[in-house]
Amino acid sequence: MTKIIDGKKRSEEILADIKEKIDINKLKPCLAIILSAVDEASKIYVNNKITAAKKVGIETRLISLSNNVTAEEILKELDKLNKDSFVNGIIIQLPLPSHIDSSKIIDAVDSKKDVDGFSPYNVGRLAAGIEGFFVPCTPLGVLDLIKQEDTNISGKNIVIIGRSNIVGKPLAQLLLKQDATVTICHSKTHNLKFHTLNADIVICAAGKEKYFDKSYFNDNSFVIDVGISREESGAICGDVDFDSINGFIKATTKVPGGVGPMTVASLMKNTLKAYFIQNEY
Ligand code: NAD
Repeated sequence: MTKIIDGKKRSEEILADIKEKIDINKLKPCLAIILSAVDEASKIYVNNKITAAKKVGIETRLISLSNNVTAEEILKELDKLNKDSFVNGIIIQLPLPSHIDSSKIIDAVDSKKDVDGFSPYNVGRLAAGIEGFFVPCTPLGVLDLIKQEDTNISGKNIVIIGRSNIVGKPLAQLLLKQDATVTICHSKTHNLKFHTLNADIVICAAGKEKYFDKSYFNDNSFVIDVGISREESGAICGDVDFDSINGFIKATTKVPGGVGPMTVASLMKNTLKAYFIQNEY
């Protein structure tokens, strides 16, 4: 039997805990979201974040900008949010329209409000293994899910498929900090199966619909599926071919109901942390 690690259930526990802290202490955290309406998926992700925030008592401010917004206009909005003492956390929903240099925008987010953990200060601190203000939300959610199954990952052989700045790289830094032995694989990796078949834990973040079947894993594999793709039928699926691995490997997350809700829960956690940082608790 393959054990299913339930990200939806775990995220609800985290959200309940956040709500309790906010209610008991009568806190008023506020999260601002800059959305430049480029794609439907971004709108759905933003709605999920707003719904979760409402659930726990975090106020949200949505700044919706058009597709042809300029970098200067975004920077102006960002400057207002950076200076607004009522706003604790700021996220820039990615991707931005292609004519905008995202790094220039992300670099301008106040690192104490950077609840996505993408600003140079937070990225640098994580890379150096020193505590910064925030760690990116998906890696935080993945680490929490790993710990649901495996509480001691020190020395474990963990393979991450994907080297993006928002998932693969920060996740590798986070896991290294936990003393795991980390290998990052990507589209140019030779003999990917050599790595995955010898790993204790495999984290799939390639963005390839149902690409990884049982031939990539062994019967003791623990797999975390970060991928989110939409099938032709409209259904959401992950990077892993669940039907192929189910009953063969030791444990896995599922898509939907795995890493996705954990990313949102981690964002709420980071927003509450931002509130504490700014109010010097
Ligand atoms: P990305 O496109 O920036 O990076 C994909 C990475 O996978 C690249 O490093 C690429 O080299 C590697 N890759 C692609 N095909 C490969 C293959 N066949 N073999 C080995 N490596 C391969 O994507 P991203 O932003 O890191 O996101 C990855 C996936 O995770 C996407 O499906 C995205 O939607 C999803 N995602 C989910 C969450 C969540 O909360 N669940 C959050 C962020 C991203």
